[in-house]
Amino acid sequence: MGYQWLEQAGVDVPWYPWVSNRIMAPKHEFFMWLAVQQRLLTQDRMVKMGFLQCNVCWLCGQEEECHQHLFFSCTYSRKCLTLVESWLQICIPVQDVMEWWFKYRNRSLLVRQVLAARIAYLMYEIWHARNRSRVESILLLPTVLVRQVQKGIVLRLKVRNVIGSTSKVNLWLERICNGVN
Ligand SMILES: [Zn+2]
Repeated sequence: MGYQWLEQAGVDVPWYPWVSNRIMAPKHEFFMWLAVQQRLLTQDRMVKMGFLQCNVCWLCGQEEECHQHLFFSCTYSRKCLTLVESWLQICIPVQDVMEWWFKYRNRSLLVRQVLAARIAYLMYEIWHARNRSRVESILLLPTVLVRQVQKGIVLRLKVRNVIGSTSKVNLWLERICNGVN
């Protein structure tokens, strides 16, 4: 897989923390490896390739779909992001993620990993909600999608066994895990 190749080759890839960390599952890492390079087959690319005639976002039905719109500008995606930010009680823009990663370098690595993972989980679920809307004409409610994001991250935190001390970070982790089963 791509991210393993990057790791083995020892290449200094600036967005690496965003596509691979211990809170992410392998499927998210591979998805993010494609996403950060904008290699997902969004409708704008399909139109350019001649596979599609028209381009209307499957989530909002109002604007053309491109990488930027789908994940960051779409009203549906922004609603999901707002719900996730509210859950984590930390509001940090998802755009300019590398700038953010370095700006917050003094914060706990674990906090940054969780916040990076939230982007991966959110983008992954948005992509699958978009695919489901296209194929099945079913659009998940943002609250349902975000519930999946929450459950995924909390499960990963438990699998990685990173909660347990009384530090400030762990109090934050315990709080975000409460109520998510
Ligand atoms: Zn949209």
